[in-house]
Amino acid sequence: MASPSEIVAVLRNSFKSGKTLSLEYRIKQLKNLHRMYTEKEKEILTAMYKDLRKSKMEAVVTELDILINDIKNTLYNIRQWHKNEYVHKDIANLLDTAYIQKDPYGVALVIGSWNYPLQLLLLPVQGAIAAGNCVLLKPSEVSQFTAKLLAEIIPQYLDPDCYRVYNGGPEETTEALKEKFDIIFYTGSSAVGKIIHSAANKNLTPTILELGGKSPCYIDNSVNLKRAVRRIIWGKFLNVGQTCVAPDYILCTTDVQNKFIELAKEVITEYFGKNPKESPDLGRIISDKHFQRLTALLKDGNVAVGGEYDANEKYIAPTILINAKINSAVLNEEIFGPILPIVNIDDTVDAIQYINSREKPLALYIFSDNKNDVELILKNTSSGSVCVNDTIMQLTVDTLPFGGVGNSGMGSYHGKFSFDAFSHKKSVLYKDLGFIGEKLSEARYPPYSPGKMAYL
Ligand code: NAD
Repeated sequence: MASPSEIVAVLRNSFKSGKTLSLEYRIKQLKNLHRMYTEKEKEILTAMYKDLRKSKMEAVVTELDILINDIKNTLYNIRQWHKNEYVHKDIANLLDTAYIQKDPYGVALVIGSWNYPLQLLLLPVQGAIAAGNCVLLKPSEVSQFTAKLLAEIIPQYLDPDCYRVYNGGPEETTEALKEKFDIIFYTGSSAVGKIIHSAANKNLTPTILELGGKSPCYIDNSVNLKRAVRRIIWGKFLNVGQTCVAPDYILCTTDVQNKFIELAKEVITEYFGKNPKESPDLGRIISDKHFQRLTALLKDGNVAVGGEYDANEKYIAPTILINAKINSAVLNEEIFGPILPIVNIDDTVDAIQYINSREKPLALYIFSDNKNDVELILKNTSSGSVCVNDTIMQLTVDTLPFGGVGNSGMGSYHGKFSFDAFSHKKSVLYKDLGFIGEKLSEARYPPYSPGKMAYL
């Protein structure tokens, strides 16, 4: 495998050649990627099954379809997004032209995470391609089968002069980060996000960080609880809880908690059968390390639902925990697995205080029919996104930016926001150099005089 410095040199030369500036070139690369998703679907699904035992339905809906729809949307809009944006001018620039030109940054580094190993790497890459950048793609080494497959198939579809896959773990990533990039896009934990940010800092490289955290899910007693539970259980146990925007914990009164638990038992059985281990629709924990971490969290509270596990299969049943101590790991570290603790609060104000006493979450879920309470939470909390009366679905609206705030990340993408994330918005003022234009300029030239001041 070539070293990062060799690869970056190739990418930089290609960028300097101006190859990626043409929209036709970018469109061709995006169409090639689209073709890859259809022609290599079987291999992609097999790799993700080996990594996470992802069911075909989940893999198609949450990875391939998202990528394909994003390409279709980008191809439809790319000319519009790329167009110069002409801006309002005042009288002093009446004869001039002022606009914003969308320039590619240059060479981008995109580092992916293992939980959606295809989508979280390639969705930002699609934005980077559309905006005209060359890209070094770094899949997560933890989802090893998908990473290996991507290194094999990407060169068959994307121009290797401009887009290269570089595989490896922290050591190789550290090596790559010694190179100068023009933009870095990272998806992963907040702890590693800080490492990436400080490595980028030495070259003042702009950085987009898509991180994690604990996303709260507030439920009050005004909602149709059965429907709320169906949506929460789906969002929590999708990809066995290994979703950055999965509801991390429930915030509700003890009264709601008791009803929630009874309904959750019914819904879990409805979705995954009496023995969820046998369900083809429930994935597995990515690695032994994460399995050990998660089973240790089970001891932090009383199991109200589930709690079974099997190390041989890296299986953990959909689990609900109650009575966890306020300072326990399960209530303080991001869970990122199929364990859902319930935290009891007295009312909406209490819930807001609990949320605000912690890091700003990536997502916040509010289940309530009480519009005043929803507004109160919206106004008094900060999070990357909010979804009222559902979970995860805010991601499917690609006219909404997706990203975190504070500890859950910086910058955003999806749809046009991906194109913008990888574009430098260059201000251009195109002055008129004619007689009248020069007359309008005269007041600013020395020698200054009271008469000129009055003119200004
Ligand atoms: P991970 O282990 O796959 O790491 C992510 C990337 O960072 C990998 O490519 C890995 O090689 C690299 N990396 C790991 N350690 C490194 C180091 N010391 N130096 C340089 N690079 C290093 O994934 P993870 O961190 O376990 O991911 C889980 C976290 O990611 C969770 O917190 C989750 O919430 C978050 N996440 C966020 C999003 C989002 O869109 N905001 C999406 C998925 C996951």
